[in-house]
Amino acid sequence: MQNILKTYFGYSEFRPHQKEIITNIIEKKDTLVLMPTGGGKSLCYQIPALMMEGTAIVISPLISLMKDQVEALQANGISARALNSMNTETENASVRMECLQGKVKLLYISPERLISETNYLLRDIKISLFAIDEAHCISQWGHDFRPEYTQLDILRKQFPKVPIVALTATADKITRQDIIKQLKMNEPEVFISSFDRPNLSLDVKKGYQQKEKIRIIKRFIEKHSNESGIIYCMSRKTTEKVAELLYDEGLDTAVYHAGLSNSEREKAQDDFINDRVQIVCATVAFGMGIDKSNVRWVIHYNLPKSIESFYQEIGRAGRDGMKSETILFYSLGDMIQLSKFAEESNQKEINIEKLNRMQQYAESDICRRRILLNYFGETMEHDCGNCDVCRNPPQRFDGTIIIQKALSAIARTNQQVATGTLIEILRGNFTQEITENEYDKIKTFGAGRDIPSRHWQNYLLQMLNMGYIEIAYNENNHIKITESGAKVLFGKQNAELVVIKEDEFTQHQIKKNTVSTNSIQIKKNAYGDHDNEDSLFETLRLLRLKLAEQEAIPPYIVMSDSTLQSLCDKRPTNIEELNDISGFSEYKKKKYGRDFVNEIKRYING
Ligand code: ADP
Ligand code: ZN
Repeated sequence: MQNILKTYFGYSEFRPHQKEIITNIIEKKDTLVLMPTGGGKSLCYQIPALMMEGTAIVISPLISLMKDQVEALQANGISARALNSMNTETENASVRMECLQGKVKLLYISPERLISETNYLLRDIKISLFAIDEAHCISQWGHDFRPEYTQLDILRKQFPKVPIVALTATADKITRQDIIKQLKMNEPEVFISSFDRPNLSLDVKKGYQQKEKIRIIKRFIEKHSNESGIIYCMSRKTTEKVAELLYDEGLDTAVYHAGLSNSEREKAQDDFINDRVQIVCATVAFGMGIDKSNVRWVIHYNLPKSIESFYQEIGRAGRDGMKSETILFYSLGDMIQLSKFAEESNQKEINIEKLNRMQQYAESDICRRRILLNYFGETMEHDCGNCDVCRNPPQRFDGTIIIQKALSAIARTNQQVATGTLIEILRGNFTQEITENEYDKIKTFGAGRDIPSRHWQNYLLQMLNMGYIEIAYNENNHIKITESGAKVLFGKQNAELVVIKEDEFTQHQIKKNTVSTNSIQIKKNAYGDHDNEDSLFETLRLLRLKLAEQEAIPPYIVMSDSTLQSLCDKRPTNIEELNDISGFSEYKKKKYGRDFVNEIKRYING
């Protein structure tokens, strides 16, 4: 087992549970594997497939995922094939032939195809195991239900002796039970890994408007040049707008949403996977079926509608286990929009509750990772040290007067304005709406001139969360004062606000010469901490890109970022020394070893 791990995959150690899972499978026992994205599920059935006699049949819902897995296995010299509708009939015929000749160790197949082959190909070959990837697709409770998956109970009936391994990153109990029941699994051993992804940093940025968000994103990307990242936006329109604004700033991005044609979407995805474009502005439609392991950051330009979606989306960063960054922008406008969607949706109560939990996460003043894991039913005993709250705990001050100013302005407009106008009133701006309605005559006009608009946005969001105001979604989003708000307004109760922190990006502008602790943190990413290593990494990254282009496969399949980093750290100058490099399998050593070693030597000598 250990040998195969080293020879075929180039790794020296198993991750938690992998060894036990593999042992269970080679003893021909049914197995259910719950592991987060990037946890290392594939090895759990790939190693048994290599150890056992016959062909392992891997059922996978998406052709793009299959293609990726097959390419990754082939890049390690393992005979893997796929049978699906993307292949030509001739290709499929030759794959079937190779299977019949016993030459294929892993056969990837779509569920429809599998059903139609049970009495043909599958009957005629020796099958070592069935692996069912994305097994939650079988459950109607899950978020990716696929009717084809419900027919998979045929496997247990027709092949009672072949072990079934089901794998998923969706952990909830109902889905888990559904998988076992529907696949008719035989008293399976269940392995549940922690869903923590400690390599992902968590950062929430609150109350920024479009212009500032773009500026922050631009600065962030400048610090992360040559890294791949995704910007998730709430709407199709926003993806295009953000792409346009970043383009004006000199940044090239792809756009991906469901309103584009198939070929436009495919091109965007393909360019991203192959490192031809580094950034994608996308709606939630983007990501299913993308296994790209070197996504280094994910930014949420808008608040997601639930923690499930949020976790799934940030999970697309750092699959290779290397340090990756995530940023969530959270604004009053998003809250208003999402609450409205939730109010008007079919499952109103559930959606409002989900949004509330998302909001609690964004508002949290305790370690954010604790909140996330807690949501998924796991408890964490310590703070993570890798979220903005841990790095920079929030401080509070007596905000009674500020809150009273806002509430008083709301009261004096007879609660007939939305947040934008309220801020104009507080700041004392003479807009058309203000003069027409004579809001410039009210006592609190200009009473909050000393506080910038962005901070007012932030304070109003805090007031909303503390329940001092509510938004009347059915009344042009006008702000209403609640009962507890009235108590503060009339001086019966004091209230605290959280101090607004200037983050490293806005600070950068103010004091150019001082480096904040945050920016040091940000620098320590996959691409090295030191300048000279940065450039060795960059040299090797370009070599990887060239090799990938020659073979027409994605760069991360030639070599992962963590393998490149390991090369930078250890700087092997002969083939022997590549044994110490994690991810350099025997096959890759033969194929690429010389290229990389020569490049490192050139770098050291030059
Ligand atoms: P998922 O659980 O999302 O299917 P993968 O199987 O794609 O995750 O694994 C994620 C990454 O972790 C891959 O790059 C894989 O090669 C790597 N990996 C898996 N097991 C190990 C291990 N024991 N040591 C080092 N890297 C590993
Ligand atoms: Zn934390």
